[in-house]
Amino acid sequence: MSYCPNCGHKTIEAIPAGDDTLRQVCPSCGHVHYENPKILVACIVYEGDKLLWIKRAHEPYAGRWAVPAGFMERGETVPEAACREFREETGLTLLHDKVKLYSVLSLPDIDQVYITYFAPLPSYDFHVTAETLDIRLLSQSEIAGNDIAYPPQMDSLISQLYRELQAGGIDAKVPHSAELRSGSQPD
Ligand SMILES: [Zn+2]
Repeated sequence: MSYCPNCGHKTIEAIPAGDDTLRQVCPSCGHVHYENPKILVACIVYEGDKLLWIKRAHEPYAGRWAVPAGFMERGETVPEAACREFREETGLTLLHDKVKLYSVLSLPDIDQVYITYFAPLPSYDFHVTAETLDIRLLSQSEIAGNDIAYPPQMDSLISQLYRELQAGGIDAKVPHSAELRSGSQPD
């Protein structure tokens, strides 16, 4: 049961005129509630052949390792959101005009778009925060075998990232893009 954010009337499920999708519609004032994908932002921060990983303090995936990430807020640009999330999880400041776009991943099964930026590690002054249990710079062999917060379809993307680091640095002159669906490998 949901209610109209405009007038408070109970909404109904209907296909609005000129549309082709069932939506929550208010029969009283005509307000249509559109549900669109959420934008998740992340910062890939590296030094040499290591990536900065955080151990998540909260669900989902509490206790598992991940790249610092979170949902974009209203009023932010995408790089500002990525740098804010990074600061909240690591205590480190990245400049939003210095981070570079690494990848855009479409996750249609969970209605999210995952946009990642990259930057070199700005300093060693990272520290655990309310959102993290641990933070470490880890090589590919050091993260292998740990519980990570990603589905198996992400493995090849993580391997590709480490290959780029081992080859001398992240190369994203053309940002990577991929479509991840459950049970499939990325493009
Ligand atoms: Zn209404």
